[in-house]
Amino acid sequence: MGNIKLKSEVFSILKDKIKLIQTEEDRAIYLVGPIRLPVNLYNETVEFQWYCWLNYDEVTEDYERIIENLSSSNLAEYQQSSVLVYGDFKNADDALIRMHSICHTGDIFGSKRCDCGFQLKQSMKKIKEHGVGAIFYLANHEGRGIGLFSKAMAYLLQENGYDTVEANESLGFVNDSRNYNDAIQVLKALRDKPVTLITNNPKKLEALKDAGLLLSGRVPLWGDVSEFNKKYLKTKIEKSGHLRDEEGTCSND
Ligand SMILES: [Zn+2]
Repeated sequence: MGNIKLKSEVFSILKDKIKLIQTEEDRAIYLVGPIRLPVNLYNETVEFQWYCWLNYDEVTEDYERIIENLSSSNLAEYQQSSVLVYGDFKNADDALIRMHSICHTGDIFGSKRCDCGFQLKQSMKKIKEHGVGAIFYLANHEGRGIGLFSKAMAYLLQENGYDTVEANESLGFVNDSRNYNDAIQVLKALRDKPVTLITNNPKKLEALKDAGLLLSGRVPLWGDVSEFNKKYLKTKIEKSGHLRDEEGTCSND
Protein backbone atom coordinates (compact mmCIF):
# COMPACT_ATOMS: atom_id res chain seq x y z
CA MET A 1 0.00 0.00 0.00
CA GLY A 2 1.04 3.60 -0.45
CA ASN A 3 3.59 2.88 -3.10
CA ILE A 4 4.24 6.54 -3.88
CA LYS A 5 5.30 9.49 -1.76
CA LEU A 6 3.32 12.60 -2.52
CA LYS A 7 5.20 15.84 -3.19
CA SER A 8 4.27 18.47 -0.63
CA GLU A 9 3.21 20.87 -3.38
CA VAL A 10 0.78 18.30 -4.80
CA PHE A 11 -0.72 17.64 -1.40
CA SER A 12 -1.06 21.34 -0.64
CA ILE A 13 -3.13 21.78 -3.85
CA LEU A 14 -5.43 18.88 -2.98
CA LYS A 15 -5.75 18.84 0.78
CA ASP A 16 -8.40 21.53 1.18
CA LYS A 17 -10.56 20.02 -1.55
CA ILE A 18 -11.00 16.68 0.20
CA LYS A 19 -13.53 16.05 2.90
CA LEU A 20 -14.20 12.99 5.00
CA ILE A 21 -17.81 11.99 5.48
CA GLN A 22 -18.13 9.25 8.05
CA THR A 23 -21.10 6.97 7.49
CA GLU A 24 -23.12 5.25 10.20
CA GLU A 25 -21.64 1.87 9.29
CA ASP A 26 -18.20 3.26 10.15
CA ARG A 27 -17.12 3.45 6.57
CA ALA A 28 -15.76 6.53 4.89
CA ILE A 29 -16.85 8.59 1.96
CA TYR A 30 -14.10 10.88 0.65
CA LEU A 31 -15.60 13.79 -1.24
CA VAL A 32 -13.41 15.80 -3.60
CA GLY A 33 -14.36 19.15 -5.13
CA PRO A 34 -15.60 21.57 -6.18
CA ILE A 35 -14.06 21.32 -9.64
CA ARG A 36 -15.08 23.68 -12.44
CA LEU A 37 -16.94 21.78 -15.13
CA PRO A 38 -18.24 23.70 -18.15
CA VAL A 39 -20.83 21.48 -19.85
CA ASN A 40 -22.36 21.57 -23.31
CA LEU A 41 -26.07 21.62 -22.51
CA TYR A 42 -28.25 21.84 -25.65
CA ASN A 43 -25.49 23.83 -27.39
CA GLU A 44 -25.07 26.27 -24.57
CA THR A 45 -22.03 26.23 -22.28
CA VAL A 46 -23.16 25.99 -18.67
CA GLU A 47 -20.74 25.96 -15.79
CA PHE A 48 -21.36 23.41 -13.09
CA GLN A 49 -19.30 22.61 -10.01
CA TRP A 50 -18.37 18.95 -9.94
CA TYR A 51 -17.66 16.71 -6.94
CA CYS A 52 -16.72 13.05 -6.96
CA TRP A 53 -16.75 10.63 -4.06
CA LEU A 54 -14.99 7.44 -3.08
CA ASN A 55 -16.28 4.79 -0.71
CA TYR A 56 -13.54 3.41 1.47
CA ASP A 57 -13.22 1.01 4.38
CA GLU A 58 -10.63 3.07 6.18
CA VAL A 59 -11.86 6.13 8.07
CA THR A 60 -9.06 8.67 8.45
CA GLU A 61 -8.33 12.34 8.03
CA ASP A 62 -4.83 11.48 6.90
CA TYR A 63 -5.71 12.43 3.32
CA GLU A 64 -2.12 12.20 2.24
CA ARG A 65 -2.21 8.47 2.82
CA ILE A 66 -5.52 8.11 1.00
CA ILE A 67 -4.09 9.93 -2.04
CA GLU A 68 -0.89 7.91 -1.94
CA ASN A 69 -2.93 4.71 -2.09
CA LEU A 70 -4.95 5.71 -5.17
CA SER A 71 -2.51 4.53 -7.81
CA SER A 72 -2.48 1.02 -6.39
CA SER A 73 -6.23 0.82 -5.77
CA ASN A 74 -7.37 -0.18 -9.26
CA LEU A 75 -10.21 2.34 -9.10
CA ALA A 76 -11.02 2.17 -12.80
CA GLU A 77 -12.42 -1.31 -12.18
CA TYR A 78 -14.96 0.20 -9.79
CA GLN A 79 -17.03 3.09 -11.04
CA GLN A 80 -17.30 6.06 -8.66
CA SER A 81 -20.33 8.29 -8.24
CA SER A 82 -20.36 12.04 -8.56
CA VAL A 83 -22.52 15.13 -8.37
CA LEU A 84 -22.89 18.23 -10.55
CA VAL A 85 -23.86 21.30 -8.58
CA TYR A 86 -25.29 24.51 -10.00
CA GLY A 87 -25.68 27.91 -8.33
CA ASP A 88 -25.46 28.71 -4.62
CA PHE A 89 -26.37 25.20 -3.55
CA LYS A 90 -25.39 25.58 0.08
CA ASN A 91 -27.37 28.70 0.86
CA ALA A 92 -30.29 29.04 -1.56
CA ASP A 93 -33.73 28.40 -0.02
CA ASP A 94 -35.03 26.36 -2.91
CA ALA A 95 -32.85 23.82 -4.72
CA LEU A 96 -33.82 21.19 -7.29
CA ILE A 97 -32.11 17.84 -7.10
CA ARG A 98 -32.10 14.75 -9.25
CA MET A 99 -30.87 11.34 -8.14
CA HIS A 100 -29.92 9.85 -11.50
CA SER A 101 -29.15 6.15 -11.79
CA ILE A 102 -26.30 5.40 -14.17
CA CYS A 103 -27.49 4.03 -17.51
CA HIS A 104 -24.66 2.99 -19.82
CA THR A 105 -26.97 2.31 -22.77
CA GLY A 106 -29.21 5.35 -22.36
CA ASP A 107 -26.83 8.04 -21.08
CA ILE A 108 -23.81 7.13 -23.20
CA PHE A 109 -25.16 5.43 -26.34
CA GLY A 110 -28.47 7.31 -26.44
CA SER A 111 -30.47 4.08 -26.42
CA LYS A 112 -34.18 4.48 -27.13
CA ARG A 113 -35.11 1.45 -25.02
CA CYS A 114 -35.32 3.74 -22.01
CA ASP A 115 -35.32 7.49 -21.61
CA CYS A 116 -32.48 7.91 -19.13
CA GLY A 117 -30.34 10.02 -21.45
CA PHE A 118 -33.26 12.34 -22.08
CA GLN A 119 -33.99 12.60 -18.36
CA LEU A 120 -30.36 13.30 -17.53
CA LYS A 121 -30.15 16.24 -19.94
CA GLN A 122 -33.62 17.52 -19.03
CA SER A 123 -32.76 17.46 -15.32
CA MET A 124 -29.61 19.48 -15.97
CA LYS A 125 -31.66 21.94 -18.00
CA LYS A 126 -34.34 22.24 -15.30
CA ILE A 127 -31.68 22.83 -12.65
CA LYS A 128 -29.98 25.47 -14.76
CA GLU A 129 -33.28 27.25 -15.45
CA HIS A 130 -34.23 27.09 -11.79
CA GLY A 131 -30.88 28.63 -10.88
CA VAL A 132 -29.86 26.26 -8.07
CA GLY A 133 -29.62 22.51 -7.83
CA ALA A 134 -27.63 19.34 -8.12
CA ILE A 135 -27.66 16.18 -10.15
CA PHE A 136 -26.31 13.07 -8.45
CA TYR A 137 -24.97 10.47 -10.87
CA LEU A 138 -25.13 7.14 -9.06
CA ALA A 139 -22.62 4.66 -10.38
CA ASN A 140 -23.83 1.52 -8.61
CA HIS A 141 -27.41 1.83 -9.87
CA GLU A 142 -27.06 0.30 -13.34
CA GLY A 143 -30.25 -1.52 -14.35
CA ARG A 144 -31.87 -0.57 -11.02
CA GLY A 145 -28.93 -2.10 -9.23
CA ILE A 146 -28.51 -5.36 -11.18
CA GLY A 147 -25.38 -4.30 -13.07
CA LEU A 148 -24.66 -3.88 -16.77
CA PHE A 149 -24.05 -7.54 -17.66
CA SER A 150 -27.29 -8.65 -16.01
CA LYS A 151 -29.08 -5.80 -17.73
CA ALA A 152 -27.93 -7.20 -21.06
CA MET A 153 -29.50 -10.55 -20.06
CA ALA A 154 -32.67 -8.80 -18.96
CA TYR A 155 -32.87 -7.02 -22.33
CA LEU A 156 -32.72 -10.40 -24.08
CA LEU A 157 -35.60 -11.64 -21.95
CA GLN A 158 -37.50 -8.48 -22.77
CA GLU A 159 -37.05 -9.19 -26.46
CA ASN A 160 -38.83 -12.44 -25.73
CA GLY A 161 -41.92 -11.07 -24.08
CA TYR A 162 -40.85 -10.38 -20.49
CA ASP A 163 -41.43 -6.95 -19.02
CA THR A 164 -38.72 -5.14 -16.99
CA VAL A 165 -39.90 -6.43 -13.62
CA GLU A 166 -40.43 -10.04 -14.79
CA ALA A 167 -37.01 -10.07 -16.46
CA ASN A 168 -35.16 -8.81 -13.36
CA GLU A 169 -37.02 -11.15 -11.04
CA SER A 170 -36.50 -14.22 -13.21
CA LEU A 171 -32.74 -13.58 -13.06
CA GLY A 172 -32.94 -13.68 -9.27
CA PHE A 173 -32.97 -9.96 -8.57
CA VAL A 174 -35.51 -7.94 -6.65
CA ASN A 175 -37.21 -5.38 -8.86
CA ASP A 176 -35.38 -2.40 -7.41
CA SER A 177 -32.33 -2.72 -5.16
CA ARG A 178 -31.05 0.81 -5.38
CA ASN A 179 -29.67 2.40 -2.24
CA TYR A 180 -29.45 6.16 -1.73
CA ASN A 181 -27.64 6.35 1.62
CA ASP A 182 -24.27 7.53 0.31
CA ALA A 183 -25.83 10.11 -2.00
CA ILE A 184 -27.82 11.53 0.92
CA GLN A 185 -24.69 11.71 3.08
CA VAL A 186 -22.98 13.66 0.30
CA LEU A 187 -26.00 15.90 -0.15
CA LYS A 188 -25.98 16.69 3.58
CA ALA A 189 -22.31 17.60 3.36
CA LEU A 190 -23.13 20.12 0.63
CA ARG A 191 -26.38 21.52 1.97
CA ASP A 192 -28.57 21.19 5.06
CA LYS A 193 -31.77 22.88 3.85
CA PRO A 194 -34.62 20.90 2.24
CA VAL A 195 -34.64 20.15 -1.50
CA THR A 196 -37.18 19.61 -4.27
CA LEU A 197 -36.78 16.24 -6.00
CA ILE A 198 -37.11 15.76 -9.75
CA THR A 199 -38.80 12.37 -10.17
CA ASN A 200 -41.90 10.52 -11.34
CA ASN A 201 -41.28 7.68 -8.94
CA PRO A 202 -43.09 7.82 -5.58
CA LYS A 203 -41.08 4.82 -4.31
CA LYS A 204 -37.89 6.74 -4.87
CA LEU A 205 -39.43 9.65 -2.99
CA GLU A 206 -40.24 7.33 -0.06
CA ALA A 207 -36.83 5.62 -0.17
CA LEU A 208 -35.11 8.98 -0.01
CA LYS A 209 -37.33 10.24 2.82
CA ASP A 210 -36.70 7.01 4.76
CA ALA A 211 -32.97 7.49 4.26
CA GLY A 212 -33.21 10.92 5.86
CA LEU A 213 -33.62 13.31 2.95
CA LEU A 214 -35.26 16.62 3.85
CA LEU A 215 -37.82 17.11 1.12
CA SER A 216 -39.82 20.21 0.27
CA GLY A 217 -41.53 18.93 -2.88
CA ARG A 218 -41.47 16.98 -6.13
CA VAL A 219 -41.16 18.04 -9.77
CA PRO A 220 -42.19 15.50 -12.44
CA LEU A 221 -40.14 14.78 -15.56
CA TRP A 222 -41.94 13.42 -18.61
CA GLY A 223 -41.26 12.98 -22.28
CA ASP A 224 -39.43 11.12 -25.01
CA VAL A 225 -41.90 8.28 -25.54
CA SER A 226 -41.20 6.19 -28.62
CA GLU A 227 -42.19 2.82 -30.07
CA PHE A 228 -39.05 1.36 -28.47
CA ASN A 229 -39.76 2.28 -24.87
CA LYS A 230 -43.57 2.31 -24.78
CA LYS A 231 -43.81 -1.08 -23.06
CA TYR A 232 -41.01 -0.25 -20.64
CA LEU A 233 -42.76 2.96 -19.62
CA LYS A 234 -46.14 1.26 -19.33
CA THR A 235 -44.61 -1.33 -16.97
CA LYS A 236 -43.30 1.45 -14.80
CA ILE A 237 -46.76 2.86 -14.36
CA GLU A 238 -48.52 -0.47 -13.90
CA LYS A 239 -45.94 -2.42 -11.87
CA SER A 240 -43.44 -0.04 -10.39
CA GLY A 241 -45.96 2.51 -9.22
CA HIS A 242 -44.77 5.50 -11.21
CA LEU A 243 -47.11 8.44 -11.22
CA ARG A 244 -48.80 9.42 -14.43
CA ASP A 245 -49.05 13.19 -14.64
CA GLU A 246 -51.25 15.43 -16.77
CA GLU A 247 -48.87 15.42 -19.71
CA GLY A 248 -50.05 11.88 -20.32
CA THR A 249 -46.71 10.27 -21.07
CA CYS A 250 -44.54 8.62 -18.50
CA SER A 251 -40.82 8.32 -18.29
CA ASN A 252 -38.17 6.46 -16.46
CA ASP A 253 -36.42 6.91 -13.23
ZN1 LIG B 1 -31.82 3.69 -19.03
